Amino acid sequence: MRIGAHVDPADPLAEAAVRSADAVQFFLADPKGWKAPPPREDADRLRAADVEIYIHAPYVINVATLNNRIRIPSRKLLVGHADAAAQIGARGLIVHGGHVNAGQDIATGFDNWRKTFAYAAESGGFATPVLIENTAGGENACARRLDALARLWDAVGEYDVGFCLDTCHAHAGGEELLDLVDRVKAITGRIDLIHANDSRDAFGSGADRHDNLGQGQIDPELVVAVTRAAGAPVIVETPGGAAGQGADIAFLRERLTDGKPRG
Ligand SMILES: [Zn+2]
Repeated sequence: MRIGAHVDPADPLAEAAVRSADAVQFFLADPKGWKAPPPREDADRLRAADVEIYIHAPYVINVATLNNRIRIPSRKLLVGHADAAAQIGARGLIVHGGHVNAGQDIATGFDNWRKTFAYAAESGGFATPVLIENTAGGENACARRLDALARLWDAVGEYDVGFCLDTCHAHAGGEELLDLVDRVKAITGRIDLIHANDSRDAFGSGADRHDNLGQGQIDPELVVAVTRAAGAPVIVETPGGAAGQGADIAFLRERLTDGKPRG
């Protein structure tokens, strides 16, 4: 089982090495900006690396929204990131489930997701598998609670859509971690990546503040259980830099594998 971390994009392979990570996730562009990702000079090295690579799409992307001025650029930015992620051999492009605004019909949000995949399909589909991630907050979110996730998958299920399960977001979003993998897989049929994070905030709080495993409000053995049940690669998106994340990786690896990195 691959275990890694969300790292600074400047030299992801060096960041992986200091954490004994055999997977990394990073941004290809400013996560709060709309700029298309520039080509990377280390593309060949990243493609050839033993480390599995995942790309997190910018936070500004919201393909569900009814606001054209956000939705249309969101689609384009997502397609651009999928292209750029493919250039470096990424295994998946993680994007948040998005939301509609208060008082708006969430059914339109689900249909906007379907249209996003239809739009990409016109040009041969996303160049990198898109993994929709569950989110922690909001009352009109497309992938916070499983009832919404089921409606989302009704809308996009005809396309090849992946899923990334974040343990902090599930806890803060109000979904019990016990048996969560079974309940998610009953909807999506798959979990492609786990974001293994503790939560600083209470169950159902809707807050999105990650913590190191065992330092927040989630029983770390529950995070281990979710990760083991999913059988997917794991990325920690936790604080503390190389030391904090390295300790989280070591904790998971000790419980989930024979203790040795794969790479
Ligand atoms: Zn996450």
